[in-house]
Amino acid sequence: MRHIAIVGSGPAGYYTAEAAVKKWGDDARIDIFDKLPVPFGLIRTGVAPDHQSIKAVARRYEKTAIGQSVRFIGNVDVGGSVSIEELGSLYDAVILATGAPQDRPLEIPGARTGNVFGSAAFVGWYNGHPEFAGMDPVLSGKHAVVIGMGNVALDVARILAKTEGEFAGSDIVAHALNALRGSAIEKITILGRRGPHQIMMTPKE
Ligand SMILES: Cc1cc2nc3c(=O)[nH]c(=O)nc-3n(C[C@H](O)[C@H](O)[C@H](O)COP(=O)(O)OP(=O)(O)OC[C@H]3O[C@@H](n4cnc5c(N)ncnc54)[C@H](O)[C@@H]3O)c2cc1C
Repeated sequence: MRHIAIVGSGPAGYYTAEAAVKKWGDDARIDIFDKLPVPFGLIRTGVAPDHQSIKAVARRYEKTAIGQSVRFIGNVDVGGSVSIEELGSLYDAVILATGAPQDRPLEIPGARTGNVFGSAAFVGWYNGHPEFAGMDPVLSGKHAVVIGMGNVALDVARILAKTEGEFAGSDIVAHALNALRGSAIEKITILGRRGPHQIMMTPKE
């Protein structure tokens, strides 16, 4: 019997668990640890709340999660409440699938002034990530600027632009919907340092 610990319950963690079950079946026991109380990583707290078809990939992880061989253990901050060494002494293998959870600071003047947020924090706020739920962005100005030209920039701009009715069918959290309801924003600029050919968005966006 193989005992495997996976740290991180996002796509990387669950695809790893799925592959281990496929290869070893009942000969493997897999524990998936996450510092959050709920699984699925950025599928839950990153992908935009109005992109439910993309979030539906979690159904595939649920199939793995309900199998006999796989357990989810939330509220365990590996490196805090338990060390990698401790896990290593208890399991045959420890797999780190912790993603890229922190914003990379933008080291330019003004980056640390008020009401300037990294996208991980802002996206976490409107998706109900517990570390960012209390962020309280001020939306009383008329003009918002999003720096960057990828899909996440467009997610943020779209969420800021939508009316309340346009969130029907999404799973946006109540505190964000309440704040957006009172938003005074009329204009959103997506700001890129190079030209349209360097836009990194997928064609659909
Ligand atoms: C705003 C945004 C929108 C996106 N939209 C799309 C999209 O539309 N389509 C698409 O295909 N992809 C999208 N992505 C990308 C996709 O979400 C990521 O590629 C994917 O989630 C990465 O998977 P992962 O398992 O590597 O990491 P994550 O999903 O980040 O999972 C890592 C997990 O590890 C946990 N963790 C971290 N540190 C520890 C620790 N010390 N102890 C315990 N647990 C820990 C975290 O809590 C998290 O649950 C988006 C990403 C973002 C940020």
